[in-house]
Order: sequence, then C-alpha cells, then structure tokens
Amino acid sequence: MRIDIITLFPEMCEAVMSESIIGRARAKGVIEVNCHQLRDFAFDKHKRVDDTTYGGGMGMLMKAEPIALCFEDICKKTGSRPHFIYMSPKGRTLTQQRLTELAQMENITILCGHYEGVDQRLIDEFIDEEISIGDYVLTGGELPALVLADSVSRLVPGVLSDDICFSEESHFGGLLEYPQYTKPSVWREREVPEVLMSGHHANIEKWRHEKSIEETKLKRPDLYEKYLAENGGK
Ligand code: SAM
Repeated sequence: MRIDIITLFPEMCEAVMSESIIGRARAKGVIEVNCHQLRDFAFDKHKRVDDTTYGGGMGMLMKAEPIALCFEDICKKTGSRPHFIYMSPKGRTLTQQRLTELAQMENITILCGHYEGVDQRLIDEFIDEEISIGDYVLTGGELPALVLADSVSRLVPGVLSDDICFSEESHFGGLLEYPQYTKPSVWREREVPEVLMSGHHANIEKWRHEKSIEETKLKRPDLYEKYLAENGGK
C-alpha cells in the first residue's frame, strides 16, 4: 500500500511514520509513505497556502490551488488516482470496519487541514471522503492523518508479524479484547487467573471469549447491544 500525506508539517508526519512497527514496515518496503510539503505547490508571488475567508470572519482558509497541484503531482507519480481523504471534524467518524475496507486500497492520499479548514470548492472537486477521528476539534489535520495512516497500515499484510495480531483485538470482531497478563504470576498480591496458567487451550479460549463479552458489556454497552443483535443474543 502507498500512503501520501499532504501537509504543512511533513517533518512531523515523517518523524511519527519512521518509528517502531510502521518504520520497520516502511524499511522492509511493505508499505510506502510519502509526506509532501504543501508550500512547494504554492506558485503565486507570495507562495501563500492560505487566505482570508469570503463573507468575513477571523480565521484563514487553505487555498484550493496548491492542494490541487500537489494531488495532481501525486497522481502523475503513482500513475493512478489515489482515493483522496480529507481529515475533517465534519467527516464520518473512523471505525475499524472502515479501516478494513481502506486497507484493501493500493493508494490513498490524506489531506491535513489547518486554520479554518479548506476551500469548499477543493473538497467538492477532489475529495472522495471526509474522515473525522472524533467529535472534537484539533488545531490541524496532522494528528488525525497519522491516526489514520498508522491504523490502516497495521492491517496491511506483512506489517504485523501475524494477522491474528489484529483480528483478535478490540473492535475487529465487534467486541473489546479480553484482559491480558504478563510475568510475574503474582504482582502485589494480585494473581493471574488460574485458567491462563493451565495450558488447556480450549478452556483458555472459552475464558477469553467470556471476558471479551464481559468487558464489552461493562465498558461499551452500545457495542454489546450491537453484538447481541448480530449474534442472535449469544
Ligand atoms: N473550522 C473547522 C470546523 O469547524 O469544522 C475546523 C478546522 S480545524 C481547527 C483545522 C483542521 O484540523 C481541519 O481542517 C482538519 O484537517 C483538522 N481536524 C480538526 N479536528 C479534526 C477531527 N476531529 N478529525 C479530523 N480532522 C480534524
């Protein structure tokens, strides 16, 4: 998978996407990530990427043309038209289900907004999808873009050591993950549940499934109700 990020802060995105699991996946060539400096596509006299809004108001807005030129350059480089996503608090909230679909795509381009956002005409002309990371507002789209780039990358085959790493996790099957424990077996008088030390795989599986259901019911009753409806009440 190839991910292109259009941003005013490419170093910030590059730094995050170079570390740990994602950094190693890039080094192995399992995923390709390119962070583009939007200012490089501002060709007017003052190299401006933002301007005042029509109709008045305090804030500045990102201009359409530099973004259009940057995206067209990415299209030329990839020889395709990547799925173009604008990170926006007005978008549909990101879910594990949507990530699973996006992970099937060859190329995605992510636009990070700033200031008051982006000229609506750019959105109408180019953007395929607006994605939000939650019902709150950040100062810029870099953190949301990195959330999306990280969470979609880990679903690409070969990024994690085994697909089971994500298929057993919270949200993948509609439930939250069961509790987990590591050494020592007794910590400050708290013991690891006996079944996990038993080596009995069927019992361990059963315990984990029951705990997943318990966790979900307790922490996310909305997900629990959905799970019950989809699994015939079991
Ligand atoms: N004026 C916009 C509004 O009220 O909808 C908010 C603009 S925000 C200050 C600047 C940029 O941060 C946005 O263009 C977007 O790229 C990003 N952003 C802020 N909150 C976000 C969220 N919850 N999800 C995704 N992107 C977000």
